[in-house]
Amino acid sequence: MSNVLEHYQYLHQIPELGFEEHKTSAYIAQQLEQAGYTVTRNVNNTTGIVAQYDSGKPGPVLALRADMDALGHIIDGKHCARHTCGHDGHSSILLTAAQELIKENNIKKGRLKLIFQPAEELGSGALAMIEGGVIDDVDMIIGLHLRPKDECPKDFASAAMYYSASTTVEASIHGIPAHGARPHLGINALDAATLAIQAVNTIHLAPSLTYSVKATRCICDAGVTNAIPSEAYVCWDLRTSTNPAMNELKAKTLNAIKLSVESIGGKVDINVTKEIPAAEIDNDVTKIIAEAIVDVLGKEGLKDPIFTPGGEDFFNYPCQRNVKAGFWGLGADLTPGLHHPEMKFDTSALENGVKITKACALKVLGK
Ligand SMILES: [Zn+2]
Ligand SMILES: [Zn+2]
Repeated sequence: MSNVLEHYQYLHQIPELGFEEHKTSAYIAQQLEQAGYTVTRNVNNTTGIVAQYDSGKPGPVLALRADMDALGHIIDGKHCARHTCGHDGHSSILLTAAQELIKENNIKKGRLKLIFQPAEELGSGALAMIEGGVIDDVDMIIGLHLRPKDECPKDFASAAMYYSASTTVEASIHGIPAHGARPHLGINALDAATLAIQAVNTIHLAPSLTYSVKATRCICDAGVTNAIPSEAYVCWDLRTSTNPAMNELKAKTLNAIKLSVESIGGKVDINVTKEIPAAEIDNDVTKIIAEAIVDVLGKEGLKDPIFTPGGEDFFNYPCQRNVKAGFWGLGADLTPGLHHPEMKFDTSALENGVKITKACALKVLGK
């Protein structure tokens, strides 16, 4: 048995929000240093860590990535951080695999890089690590995520997770205030917001594409009900299964918002505040992961690729830099679902995660 449960139990009871993973990263960095890795803390002034092991022989540079952050929930009226996306599981799996790989002295060529990134849930952790230069010398990067039970039960794993692109658009709409008795002298920001929401709802992409766009927040209040409101704030959530489709959907959304607000004389400031690219998965890396899964779980343990409308900021690595990427899903009998405040999974699945992670590393850096 490995140390994975010990690491998991420690990390699970110190959940920290994105960019605040101080205790989490201190623990991981210290464990990695003890194991013999060269560790860089505070990558790009964040809580991110990169650790490296150089075999001293020529060969590829493989990066393995785990995320460290918890989610902010409101439970019983109190704000609290909780690991409801299983990032404590991912970190424990990678930490344990990293320790065992060195202990067993099986890395025979190239370099192994471990990326423990902050703030996946904020959508900006991977970008911060990329700006810190951590993958500039990397040839291949692999990430993983625990999967809900209905998608992939324990003792099964999928070698490719096709996540979707997601984008948040925020619009501040400016009208002109007026007395409720003289609406012709004002420009009603609430009317403009309604027009913008309706205009976005009429957007169509080709029916063969998978996408959705919907307003998710609308705030407009002049403080009184007998005046024309002059300010409104609206948000939209956009999802597509591919990056080209997101480019099209985003352009059409921005255009629809601008033209509809301007059609009644309003002005609008539009910001794209969060952008996560869709999965860009390399077939060679997927093959390596699939072989590793079969080695550990048998042929019957290998599930088909999974397509999900969820987002994962991991895909900034292949989209921002020229690096081959693979991303796999680990079955862990996870219920009732990711991000649910009472999310639970079978922690004995972590052992499978360690074995598959090690097998992937050795297929690339073993003899
Ligand atoms: Zn999540
Ligand atoms: Zn997650």
